[in-house]
Amino acid sequence: MSEKINFPFRKHLQEFTAYKSARDEFSAETEEYIFLDANENPFENNEKNRYPEVMHNELREKIVEVKTSQFSCNLEKNNIILGNGSDELIDLLIRIFCEPKVDSICISSPTFGMYAVSANSNNVNIIDISLNSKTFELDDIVVDKILLADNTDATRENQNNIKLLFLCHPNNPTGNIISEKRLVKILDNFSGMVVVDEAYIDFSSEHSTLKFLQKYPKLIVLQTFSKMWGLAGVRCGIAFAHPEVITMLQAVKSPYNVNILTARAVNDALNNKGIIYQQRNIILAQRLYLENECKNLTISKNPIFTDVYPSHCNSILVRLVPELDSDIIYEKLKNKGIVVRSFGKKQFLENCLRISVGTPEENFKVVEILKNI
Ligand SMILES: *Cc1c(COP(=O)(O)O)cnc(C)c1O
Repeated sequence: MSEKINFPFRKHLQEFTAYKSARDEFSAETEEYIFLDANENPFENNEKNRYPEVMHNELREKIVEVKTSQFSCNLEKNNIILGNGSDELIDLLIRIFCEPKVDSICISSPTFGMYAVSANSNNVNIIDISLNSKTFELDDIVVDKILLADNTDATRENQNNIKLLFLCHPNNPTGNIISEKRLVKILDNFSGMVVVDEAYIDFSSEHSTLKFLQKYPKLIVLQTFSKMWGLAGVRCGIAFAHPEVITMLQAVKSPYNVNILTARAVNDALNNKGIIYQQRNIILAQRLYLENECKNLTISKNPIFTDVYPSHCNSILVRLVPELDSDIIYEKLKNKGIVVRSFGKKQFLENCLRISVGTPEENFKVVEILKNI
């Protein structure tokens, strides 16, 4: 028997009932029925005339299959919900757990910007406990600071009310991972929900947190079809969580957040994962090429970089020597037809560029330009 877990949902949601939608019980594929219940146009249009499913049952089954084999983990369909990109899921998580003006999320800068954007747009506080400013590691000191910020709740003074901790593993834009030992320490001790954003996990040789899902009910894992799966334009993200959390996300999301065209594109990609894995292998080899070439540019006669950060993502973070300005180098590259990301004066990322791994030809070109900059 599973014990009853008290999830820290917002109070007004505990009694909340979801919108009952037309396609909850019947999907348009159930051909023996005549559907006169949803004011759809009855004329066939490659099934696009029907509303999409609310929970995409078959697609979730397929995702269970692919993810359990890729990450050697234990999953069920009711551990999964799909979103219009993981951006939507980040926002929904904040909306179901955080009371505006009262509760907080915790993040570790520098990291993905959407956690703060979503918190701000929902008027939810942000507690930022930055990563090690030299290595960008979420090291033991950072772990202890996070747990301390969480524990201030118990003292009843200076209450942070942290409901959600966002960890990005591997981290965007720094490319590094969180060690399993530290992650487990957080999972064992943190009182709120722990969200691990694994948008780039497909590019890492390291552990996925998915294998901890059954053991830690307060763990939520986010993945996406936008990166390795090559479907950024299609908009589909996945949250993996305890079934009660999934049910709450379902209640609050808009019923048709994942449309029929998106579901088909995701289904096709999952059916052709051999090609995707081949592309990933090329990207990984190219990441190594870029990393090595950039490292050469730290030790050449005229070094242009001081740091090349090791990456588990499909991008590389580099820091320019003080004589060069990342915004100016950005402009120079742009004038030669190449767009990278410059962090300019952004705290912790001063004078850094993030270069996504492109095709072999694209990477060769950017390296040649950098060599002659
Ligand atoms: C790209 C990215 C996402 C993906 O967002 P989508 O909305 O699914 O495209 C999520 N988290 C991080 C850290 C990312 O870099």
